[in-house]
Amino acid sequence: ERTDKKAYEEAQKRLKMAEEDQRKILPELRKHSRREYLQKRQAEKLEDLDAEIADEEYLFSSDKMTESEHKELDYKRTLRDLAKDYKQAGAREQHERKNRYFMPEEKRSKQVPQRELELEEMPMEVGGEQGRWEEERLKTASLSFGAKKERERGLKEERERYELILEEDEMINFVTSAVTMKGTMTEEQGENEGLSQAEQKKESIQEVRRSLPVFPFREDLLAAIQQHQILIIEGETGSGKTTQIPQYLIEAGYTKGGAKIGCTQPRRVAAMSVAARVAEEVGVKLGNEVGYSIRFEDCTSERTILKYMTDGMLLREFLTEPDLATYSVVIIDEAHERTLHTDILFGLIKDIARFRSDLKVLVASATLDTERFSCFFDDAPVFRIPGRRFPVDIFYTKAPEADYLEACVVSVLQIHVTQPTGDVLVFLTGQEEIEACCELLQERCRRLGSKISELLVLPIYANLPSDMQAKIFNPTPPGARKVVVATNIAETSLTIDGIIYVIDPGFCKQKSYNARTGMESLIVTPCSRASANQRAGRAGRVAAGKCFRLYTAWAFKHEMEESTVPEIQRTNLGNVVLLLKSLGINDLIHFDFMDPPPHETLVLALEQLYALGALNHLGELTKCSEEVLTIAAMLSVNNSIFYRPKDKVVHADNARMNFVVPGGDHLVLLNVYTQWVESGYSTQWCYENFIQFRSMKRARDVRDQLEGLMERIEVEVVSSPEDSTPIRKAVTAGYFYHTARLSKGGYKTVKHQQTVYVHPNSSLFDEQPRWLIYHELVFTTKEFMRQVIEIDSSWLLEVAPHYYKNKE
Ligand code: ADP
Ligand code: MG
Repeated sequence: ERTDKKAYEEAQKRLKMAEEDQRKILPELRKHSRREYLQKRQAEKLEDLDAEIADEEYLFSSDKMTESEHKELDYKRTLRDLAKDYKQAGAREQHERKNRYFMPEEKRSKQVPQRELELEEMPMEVGGEQGRWEEERLKTASLSFGAKKERERGLKEERERYELILEEDEMINFVTSAVTMKGTMTEEQGENEGLSQAEQKKESIQEVRRSLPVFPFREDLLAAIQQHQILIIEGETGSGKTTQIPQYLIEAGYTKGGAKIGCTQPRRVAAMSVAARVAEEVGVKLGNEVGYSIRFEDCTSERTILKYMTDGMLLREFLTEPDLATYSVVIIDEAHERTLHTDILFGLIKDIARFRSDLKVLVASATLDTERFSCFFDDAPVFRIPGRRFPVDIFYTKAPEADYLEACVVSVLQIHVTQPTGDVLVFLTGQEEIEACCELLQERCRRLGSKISELLVLPIYANLPSDMQAKIFNPTPPGARKVVVATNIAETSLTIDGIIYVIDPGFCKQKSYNARTGMESLIVTPCSRASANQRAGRAGRVAAGKCFRLYTAWAFKHEMEESTVPEIQRTNLGNVVLLLKSLGINDLIHFDFMDPPPHETLVLALEQLYALGALNHLGELTKCSEEVLTIAAMLSVNNSIFYRPKDKVVHADNARMNFVVPGGDHLVLLNVYTQWVESGYSTQWCYENFIQFRSMKRARDVRDQLEGLMERIEVEVVSSPEDSTPIRKAVTAGYFYHTARLSKGGYKTVKHQQTVYVHPNSSLFDEQPRWLIYHELVFTTKEFMRQVIEIDSSWLLEVAPHYYKNKE
C-alpha cells in the first residue's frame, strides 16, 4: 500500500510538472501561433494522461481509496476528457481552416488533374535498405548522358557524332538519380498543349490568356477577393498570377473612378518586363493605362490604373501617401522571395488594412510557404491555383564539379548534341559569370561551326539593356536551340516558354551580414533546396523536362539549406531603420515583422545611426557638399564604374591609373565624375577611358536625386575644390566607425580589432597609409577593404569625440 501511495504521489507530481511546463510554453506558442506544434504536444500529453489513469486504476482498487484520492482520479479523468475534446476541437478547427481555403474544384478543369506537386522523397539514408539501393544505383546507373530509354533505342550514330564534338573525358558524367519531380500532367496529356505552347506567338493573345492555368478560376478568384480583404494566392510559376490577376481586377471594376492597382516585384527587370507584356495584352501603350515605376524611372502617367513597381518604390509611396489612398488593390507579388522591402511592406500593409477596409490586399507567391503568409495575415485564406507541370527528371553529377562555369558550358553543348529539341535555361549568379559563360559558349560554337545546329545564346540580368532583355521571349526559330543564361530572375519572376532543360550549378549571390563584425558581403553561396526545386520546375512547363544539377545528390541533401533565409535576417539594418523612422515608426523593436531581425543587429543599427545623428550639427559637413554628393552617388553604384574587358586588361588598367589622385579611392571616384561632367556627360569619353557609361548615368541620377533632397531640406550646395581635407573629414564624420589602422601584416579595424587588407584595386594599395576609412568590407579571398580614403587620426577625436574618447 505504501509503494502504491508513493507511485500515486509520483504521478501527481508529474502531472503538476506537465501543467507547469504547459503554462510556460503556452505564451511562447501563442506568440508564434504554431498551432500544429501545440496540438502535437497536446496529443502527447493526452497519451501520458491516459497511461497514468490506467496505471492508477490498476494500482488502486477503488474500495481502498480515500475520498481525496477518488477526487484526484476523477479530476484526472475530467482533465483527460477535456483534453480529448480539445483535440477533437483542434481537428475540427484544422478541418475548418482547410475548408475556408478556396480549393478550386476539380470539375472545372478536366485537363488539370490535381496531384500534389512534390519532389519524391530521396532514398538517401546511409546504411539503410534504401541507402544501399541508392548506392547501387549510383554505381551502376551512371550514364554518360540522358535517359535510359534513349540509350536503349540504340542511338549509336548519334553518340558517335557527338563524340566528335566533345571529347569523352571532358564530358560530365551525370547520374540518373531515380528522382523525378512529379508533374500534374503526363506527356500524352500535354501533347497538344506542348505544341500549341511552342507556337504560342502565332496564337492570338486572347487565346494565350485563356490557356493559362489561372483562367478557369477567374470567377472563383474574383469572388474570393470580393469576400475577403486579404487573400494569399499560391500558384506555380507561369500560371498567370502576375500578368492575369490585375487584368481580371480591372475587368471586374476595381479601378472604376480612377483608383489604382499596384503590383510589387522584388526585381526591376521583372517590373519592367511584366508591365510591357501586360500593356501588350491589354492593347495600350506602356506608360498609359499600364505602367511601371522603378527607382529613377517612372513610366506611368495620370491615366495609369495598373502600376507594376519594385517593392522599394511602394515603400517610398508610403512617405507621400501613408494610407495608400489612391490604391484600391495592392498585390505583393513574389512574396516568397522575402526581400527586405517586401518584408517591411507586410508589416505596413497589415497595419493600414485595419483602417482601410476598402483596400484589397493580395499576397501572391510561388508554391512555397504560403501557410506562413496566412498565419502572419491573421489566418487569411489561401487561394491555390492548381499547378500544371510535366514531370522533370533530375540528374546529378557523380562527383563535385570544380569549375561550375566550365561545367555549364560543357553541359549546354552535351544537351545540344544529344538531346531532342527544346530550349535550355542556365542559372548563374551574376553579370560577370553570365557574360563569361555566353562568351565561352559562342566561342565553342564558332569553332564547331556547321558540325552542330544553331545555338542562340541569350543572357538576362538586371543591368542588361531592356531591348536585349526582351530577346529572351522571342520564339526559337525552327532547327535552332535557345540557351538563356540567367540570374535568379528566371527562378520565379519571369517565365520563358519553351524551356525543356535546366542547368543548375546550385549557387546564388547573397548579401550576408555579420552583426558582430559589422561586415556585409555579397557572396556566392549554395542556393537552398527550395530554390533548386523551383529551378528544376522551370523545365516542366511545356513538356516533360530534364534538370541537370551540377552537384551531387549528396550535396543536395546535406550541404544545402532547406530554404533561403529572409533578407531581413542577413542585412545591415541601418537603412531599414532610417526608412521606418521616416515613415513615423519609432518603436522598431515592436514593429510587426514576419521574422523579426536579430535583436543584436537592430541595436547595432540604432547605435550607428545615433552616432551619426549626433554629428549632423557639425557645420563643417556642408562646406563641401558638392563633392560629397558626387562621392556618395559614385559609391552607390556598386563598384561598376571601371570596365575591364578580358582582352584589354592592360589598356583598362592604364586608363584607370590616369584617374588616380592622392588621398584615396573616394577622391579617384570624384575625379572620374568631374572629368565626365567636363566631357559633357559623353558616352564616347566613357568608352575611351574604360568607364561604364550605364553606371555613370546611374550615379548621375542618384546625385540628382540627392541634390533634390538637399534642396528640399535647404542645405546649401557649396564646393571646396582646392583642398581635399574637408572632403576627407566629411567622409570621416560619416564613417568613423569604419576606421582601420596599419598594423603588423595588414590593417586592424578600430571597432573589432579585426585584420583586414586594402583591396588590390585600390589606389592606396601600394601606399598603405597609417590610418584609413573604408567604405565597405568584402570577403572574397581575404577580408578586403574596398574604397578606402586616407585620414589623419586627430580628425577622429574632432568629428566623433563621443565615440573615440572612450576608446583612448
Ligand atoms: P506567374 O506570375 O504566375 O509566374 P506570369 O503571369 O508572369 O505567371 O506569366 C504567365 C504567362 O504569360 C507565361 O507563362 C508566359 O506564357 C506569358 N508571358 C509572361 N511574360 C511574357 C513576356 N514578356 N513575353 C511573352 N510571354 C510572356
Ligand atoms: Mg509572377
